[in-house]
Amino acid sequence: MTTHNIHGHAARFAPPEILIDGKRNLVGLTLDELKAEMLALGLEAFRAKQIWTAIYCHGIKDFDVMTTLAKPVREKIAEKFVIGRPSVSAAPVSVDGSRKWLLKMGDGHEVEAVYIPEEDRGALCVSCQVGCTNSCSFCHTGTMRLVRNLDASEIIMQVMQARDAIGEWKVPDLEKRMLSNIVLMGMGEPLFNYDNVAKAVKIIMDEGGIAIGKRRITLSTSGVVPMMARCGSELGVNLAVSLHAVTDEVRDVLIPLNKKYPIKELIQACRDYPAATNARRITFEYVMLKGVNDSMADVRALVKLLEGIPAKINLLPYNPWPGSPYECSDDAVIQKFGDFLNAKGYASPVRTPRGRDIMAACGQLKSASVRARAAAEAGE
Ligand code: SAH
Ligand code: SF4
Repeated sequence: MTTHNIHGHAARFAPPEILIDGKRNLVGLTLDELKAEMLALGLEAFRAKQIWTAIYCHGIKDFDVMTTLAKPVREKIAEKFVIGRPSVSAAPVSVDGSRKWLLKMGDGHEVEAVYIPEEDRGALCVSCQVGCTNSCSFCHTGTMRLVRNLDASEIIMQVMQARDAIGEWKVPDLEKRMLSNIVLMGMGEPLFNYDNVAKAVKIIMDEGGIAIGKRRITLSTSGVVPMMARCGSELGVNLAVSLHAVTDEVRDVLIPLNKKYPIKELIQACRDYPAATNARRITFEYVMLKGVNDSMADVRALVKLLEGIPAKINLLPYNPWPGSPYECSDDAVIQKFGDFLNAKGYASPVRTPRGRDIMAACGQLKSASVRARAAAEAGE
């Protein structure tokens, strides 16, 4: 697949233009686009910055409370625009404190965002597609049939929704925030929706707004090689790569995209990743599948493969889902695998699965509406 085909792919799964009560959403516009809209309404360009601050620093959803704007100005804007939020279809809370929001977008499609709190910080796992245009054999999201890209507003609104729920609009100091990091590790392959993801990430990073910087954002890819360099140079976010296997033979089965971009090309793209340094290492994700990729020969080959790359390795215990075809490796096997990596100098934490009880763990996300529909069609 060439870069050209990736654009073809993006066009095929393009999000529709969604109006809310016939009005356009201000969330997701760049500051320049917002200025242009103000000018088109006959208002001064500086209004855009006032609105930007209200939306992204204060979380204001209603023009009526934008007291920095005179009433006639507010009314003029409110005639044409809204400050959008997705509607919340479900919001389960895990016994471990993780929270999941099933969010319904304007066209009825649903995606999930998951908040994973730590002691004094927390990460929000954000989705970038409805379903996924990939179909990895170990991933629940990959089994969804309804797919499309999310637009920038739909990606940003997940963050805004989480901040609403956590009640964090009044905490400007990033060090004190409980939503301090963002991981693009929810539903979907971010580099197959690069333009919308890039636009959203730039808005999220803006220092006059949500202000979560590139060092606190991690993008996970299944290996869309032609887009990796651009992601590094344009966004500079941390990169996580779903490696999961050390031979093309095994990886082809786990991640069919590997047939287009085999391991050798993927590893070269990691070596070339612009934002990677010793201080900002690339995370290699490795899901532990019993009898598939968890042997000592595998771990030895893994070390060899990553030689010279500033890397850390996240071992992910496999999270099963209804009908899933694999089993998680035994604890002792995971431990041995991790010990070997540690002995070779790699930080290789075993990621404790979070939110398994609410189907919010890695690879378990799949929106209920689609599940319900599939069940109905199967006559269940
Ligand atoms: N689409 C992107 C990011 C989302 S998935 C990607 O594939 O990288 C986030 C991580 O969870 C990926 O490493 C993915 O491979 C992993 N994953 C998927 N299904 C899983 C499962 N059932 N158990 C554990 N990890 C899984
Ligand atoms: Fe998509 Fe990632 Fe799941 Fe693969 S692992 S199907 S790329 S979400």
